[in-house]
Amino acid sequence: MSTTRVLAVVNQKGGVGKTTTSVNLAAALAQASRRVLLIDLDPQGNATMGSGVDKRAAPRTVYQVLLGLCELTAARMRSEQGGYDLVPANRELAGAEVELVELPGRESRLKAALERVLGEYDFVLIDCPPSLSLLTVNALTTAQRVLIPMQCEYYALEGLSDLVATIKRVRAHLNPQLEIAGLLRTMYDPRNALSQQVSQQLEAHFGDKVYRTLVPRNVRLAEAPSYGVPAVLWDASSKGAQAYLALASEILGAAA
Ligand code: ADP
Ligand code: MG
Repeated sequence: MSTTRVLAVVNQKGGVGKTTTSVNLAAALAQASRRVLLIDLDPQGNATMGSGVDKRAAPRTVYQVLLGLCELTAARMRSEQGGYDLVPANRELAGAEVELVELPGRESRLKAALERVLGEYDFVLIDCPPSLSLLTVNALTTAQRVLIPMQCEYYALEGLSDLVATIKRVRAHLNPQLEIAGLLRTMYDPRNALSQQVSQQLEAHFGDKVYRTLVPRNVRLAEAPSYGVPAVLWDASSKGAQAYLALASEILGAAA
């Protein structure tokens, strides 16, 4: 049995902090001397760009890997800025959804592709698209744990039941070991009463499934992607970077 921890970063809502979490957690775990692979599974390719890799110039991407056109090792690149390995994505991936439907083992193609390199890593993070599509199902079939970033806003809980139902379905049919790792509160504003209220609601409903670390709203986290450097490296002292470093510690401290 491999001891690699494979985490899918999932929420079918866009703009909740999935990519920011994937990139900064990858960099923070790498800073802690862990061997990390980040898989960009979103056609927007934001995790790729945020890792300092030009998505338009990537010779091979996760698209070819999923379709069986190349090995994962052939698509893998190095994020020099982040200190981790990356399987990039770009808009090519948008077509994969339709093409995958025709292929055998369509839900487990990422898992099969990853198997051979799994032993090289302590952590594999998968940045998912904003949908519960076949791409996300591939991530959930591959992962042991799901990290769910949630923005502390009024509609935060809406849609969570769909996500939980999808997780249950994947657990029943494709991946019995799948569990929720935790809910991560993102873009938290302590001065905003609603933000506090939603945050408390999450704790009341989900108890210890909520990470203790709160990620504040912080402009450094939003700026860093335009420099192609994870914020934890670009401005390590910023509140946003500190939060992701704390999240990495929390995850490293937790039992496997
Ligand atoms: P998703 O991947 O879920 O669509 P992103 O991580 O891309 O979400 O975040 C959406 C937008 O919000 C991006 O512009 C990102 O830079 C910004 N952002 C994410 N987290 C924070 C934060 N904690 N503080 C400020 N801006 C953030
Ligand atoms: Mg994203």
